[in-house]
Amino acid sequence: MRRLLLTICVLAFLIPQISVSQIIAIKAGLLIDPASGKSFNSRIILVEGERIKSVGFGTAVPPGARVIDLSAFTVLPGLIDAHTHLCTDVALDSSWQGRITERFTSYILQTSTSYRALTGVVKAASMLESGFTTVRDVGNAGNYADTDLRRAIENGLFPGPTIINAGRIIAPYGGQLQLNPERPGLGTPEYFYADTRDEMRKAIRENIHFGAKVIKVVVDNQPYSYSEDDLRFMVEEARRAGLKVAAHCHTPEAARNAVMAGVASIEHGTRMDDETLMLARKNGTALVGTEMPREVWELFGAEQRYAVLIDRLQRAHRIGVTLVYGSDALYETGNRTRGEMALTILDSWKDAGVPPLETLRAMTANAAKLLGVENERGAVAAGLAADLIAVPGNPLKDIFALKQVEFVMKNGKVIKTPQQESPAKHNKTPESKEK
Ligand SMILES: [Zn+2]
Repeated sequence: MRRLLLTICVLAFLIPQISVSQIIAIKAGLLIDPASGKSFNSRIILVEGERIKSVGFGTAVPPGARVIDLSAFTVLPGLIDAHTHLCTDVALDSSWQGRITERFTSYILQTSTSYRALTGVVKAASMLESGFTTVRDVGNAGNYADTDLRRAIENGLFPGPTIINAGRIIAPYGGQLQLNPERPGLGTPEYFYADTRDEMRKAIRENIHFGAKVIKVVVDNQPYSYSEDDLRFMVEEARRAGLKVAAHCHTPEAARNAVMAGVASIEHGTRMDDETLMLARKNGTALVGTEMPREVWELFGAEQRYAVLIDRLQRAHRIGVTLVYGSDALYETGNRTRGEMALTILDSWKDAGVPPLETLRAMTANAAKLLGVENERGAVAAGLAADLIAVPGNPLKDIFALKQVEFVMKNGKVIKTPQQESPAKHNKTPESKEK
């Protein structure tokens, strides 16, 4: 009997696994390729399993294929947000005006890692719903809630964007907090304090061991900051394990140190001067400027910061730095979901006069390259992962069309479809939706 069972088990392995994955044929009214800036009318995208099988004009739809008619829509690659904090949700209202650091500190001290992982599930779903099929999550996830969120999505527990996560943020003592000398440990695990070279190496290795896919370093949130040599040491240590470094900088000096040290991206870069921006262009350092909209700065009681960011964005664009879209959303304002919040950076980019094509590139091709997923995502082409979105209108004419994502496909799975395809529905404006 035992032998019979064994034979059955062995046979089960030997029988070829016939996987019949239904082909999906998407009829795209207009297809945009952000990298080349070209648009194509009436394309048919065939999707098989998780991948795009072909993209063409007049392609025959294979018999038995599921047809999704998006002929009234513009189809684009799924969007990428290169600066998220999915496992953080700080409730803000005007009573916290001017005291955001205080509010943030109490949030991270009072919220468990498990709660933050659950928060991540909700925020990840909301990002996907708004069209973000990939994110780079740059820390603030307690004790590796971000790694578990990524693994759960990769294992198919629930749908979510592809996540490149940072694990714990590495920073000089104190990180982004003001600690209590009687309880100095309260700032960890949120931050990895690393002041000596040994601590930096250990922090990077421990982070990678516990699932980090990118190293996030806060360079200058204290009066003391990392030197160019410190940063070069960390870039090299991360590079040996195949990881890139994202450097949070506000001052021009910190940004200069980070660019010189060879980090992959400057996060925020609030006060980068022209000289450092030119250096960033020369070194191929991306800028993830996280230009939050005016209303958020007003809520923080720091309205003047908005003009500083718009000016820096305009200079960075003029100089030709590689721009990458990042929302930095830790909260939501105006009854928005996290995904809708992430799209509010478009307001600032439009205000700064960044052309729609450059904005689209920052959200797709440029971001995919920074995240190291450019051979898989960030474009609609045969062989790539089927991460697609569709919007009414044409984002090359009005970038706010991206606020109306009505179709989302993630790795070949349909996440969201247009509720109805009558043109009347597609005429609604973002304003009318918010009322
Ligand atoms: Zn951030």
